[in-house]
Amino acid sequence: AKELPESQCDVLIVGAGPAGLMLATWMARCGINARIVDKRSTKIFNGQADGLQSRSLEIFDSFGFADRAWKEANHMLEMCMWNPGEDGTLRRSDRIPDAIVGLSRFTQIVLHQGRIERFFLDNIKKHSKDSLRVERAVLPESLSISEDLCDDYSPETYPLKVQLRHLTEEEATPAQSNGTTVEDGLFRSNLADDDTDDLIAQSRANAGSTEVVRAKFMVGCDGAHSWTRRQLGFQLEGEPTDYIWGVLDVIPITDFPDIRERCAVHSASSGSLMVIPRENKLVRLYIQLTEIKPDASGRADRSKITPDTIIKAAQKIIAPYKLTYEYCDWWTAYQIGQRVGTNFDYKNRVFLAGDAVHTHSPKAGQGMNVSMQDAFNLGWKLALVVKGVAQPSILKTYQSERRRIAQDLINFDHKFSRLFSGRPAKDVLDESGVNMTEFKDAFVTGNMFASGLSVDYGSSMLVAKGGDAAEQGDGTDVSSSKTQIAGKQELATNIKLGMRLPSCKVLNQSDARPWHFQEWFKSDGRFRLVVFAGNVLSPAQKERLYAFCTKFTASTFLAPHIHKDIGILTCHSAKRTETELLRDFPEVLHPFDSKTGWDYNSVFVDDLSYHEGHGEAYKNYGVEKERGCVVVTRPDQYVGFIGELDGEGVKGVETFFQGIFIS
Ligand code: FAD
Repeated sequence: AKELPESQCDVLIVGAGPAGLMLATWMARCGINARIVDKRSTKIFNGQADGLQSRSLEIFDSFGFADRAWKEANHMLEMCMWNPGEDGTLRRSDRIPDAIVGLSRFTQIVLHQGRIERFFLDNIKKHSKDSLRVERAVLPESLSISEDLCDDYSPETYPLKVQLRHLTEEEATPAQSNGTTVEDGLFRSNLADDDTDDLIAQSRANAGSTEVVRAKFMVGCDGAHSWTRRQLGFQLEGEPTDYIWGVLDVIPITDFPDIRERCAVHSASSGSLMVIPRENKLVRLYIQLTEIKPDASGRADRSKITPDTIIKAAQKIIAPYKLTYEYCDWWTAYQIGQRVGTNFDYKNRVFLAGDAVHTHSPKAGQGMNVSMQDAFNLGWKLALVVKGVAQPSILKTYQSERRRIAQDLINFDHKFSRLFSGRPAKDVLDESGVNMTEFKDAFVTGNMFASGLSVDYGSSMLVAKGGDAAEQGDGTDVSSSKTQIAGKQELATNIKLGMRLPSCKVLNQSDARPWHFQEWFKSDGRFRLVVFAGNVLSPAQKERLYAFCTKFTASTFLAPHIHKDIGILTCHSAKRTETELLRDFPEVLHPFDSKTGWDYNSVFVDDLSYHEGHGEAYKNYGVEKERGCVVVTRPDQYVGFIGELDGEGVKGVETFFQGIFIS
């Protein structure tokens, strides 16, 4: 047989949806030799996911493109609840803020997935200097794993062999269904069969071209039907439900007063509807299709669903208000199923992320966010292992950290979907109906989860909560990741170990400009040591600060990593105008470069700004103003360690990193 072209790469990413693109962004940012392939010939241009939670925007900002999303998107600030009043007529029963006030510097926004994918692609291009591109119309057709090599992390070992097939443009373009001219997403919906095997068979019949890639790691970001998951023999556990929903992106013509608000509408007996106001006068309607039922196979016949069936269902729900449209941008239908993958990785070599390991209803606007955040959790860990900086055992924390989030998501979605799809109760004795107060309460408590900010990773070598990591209760073996030390949570009561560092306004010491401190925690693959220097005008405190820095830079273990793998940010609490960068702060906190001089962007102060008030960072972070403390954040901004600003603290930081870095 003819020899196939063969090449090597460190990380092979399968699928260029939100999860795959997030992973590729990390690879580009950290300079990893990666490839990303997708079976489709183009990116998506409209429709699909659209809600971005606060945490996703913080992440985008750490890569430098949140501003683009923020500017183009529709901002959602209020949520209205509509349901039948005592006379049975639809009325507004409640208004609540869409997001919890004060949790994040970003509120929730809506913008379609195609734009978000564009921002990722531009960022990947910039940081990889155009060397990492999505290879479209390319998909894997076989995967073989050299089991005996999986534990060998020497740089020249490639345990994975993947055969990639290149499709023609025609083979890779999905057909639209139902003969409509409007673009629909049915081919990506769970009501459609997966076409991966057909694509491969067709290309083989046409004698298409193939190649062999040898890879160190592979990540399946190939969606709910994941080919990668199938190769590993892993399952999704859970059940489909009988609830069928349609989705319409239209410019509505209506007298419904809250069409520019996010609304949950429960009709007396015609089902429910969710209104999501979007960019460019578009509105997304999620509509329960009560007249379409799954057949004996458990699946609904999607040929019965058209934009017309969906709008008719919506008109019934929203009556007596009128609702029509002239322009439809996109539509789809899906059946709610809630499933979580049994395994998120195979031997630390093949990983699954996004819809490949969890599926659920789209209404809570979680799927894309959680999928991107899976890849955000994994990407830097892979990059540090490939570069030989971190121990491969950190990869185990991917499953232990993310599987629990996926389970939380399913529990949240289960509750939310039931309350959302149910008929409103007529009165207190109507037990089969949904109590609207319960619905509102679920929404309010769910808001914390839905913001993405409640994520709290358990104890491991990456989170010094102390205790045994294996006690997380998710059934995974993370015994190798026992933490050696416990961080001192009491020194920074609102900077929670395991959670992302919250943001407060601080001022740049050198030029008085106010910043959200979080803006300086860029996703560049480095950990951050945050030195809360306290009141540096007190001689005793200044001495503590200098002693800490001397000991820190003298550590033979830490020294090679300082600035390279561990960036340093300082925030002090003395008066800005009475302190001097060069006089009061040790050099390591504002390093000198022979070509560009001192670093003026690493020392900040908790002080009154000229135009934007006082951020009260020490108070809000719960850090003692005189003595300060030190905090270590991971490259993804989650808090790993907290210690005293003294010799013990240096030892703690050293022990923390000894559990992570190779040497
Ligand atoms: P996908 O987006 O499915 O991407 C998988 C990629 O892999 C695709 O590009 C596909 O072509 C490619 N691929 C698949 N198989 C192969 C293969 N064998 N080889 C190569 N490539 C392959 N989420 C939200 O957060 N907010 C929302 O508002 C929201 N609304 C939604 C509305 C609808 C109507 C739907 C259907 C979903 C919605 N979601 C929402 C969910 C969201 O779309 C998904 O959770 C998200 O897209 C998952 O991202 P992913 O990268 O894991 O997978």
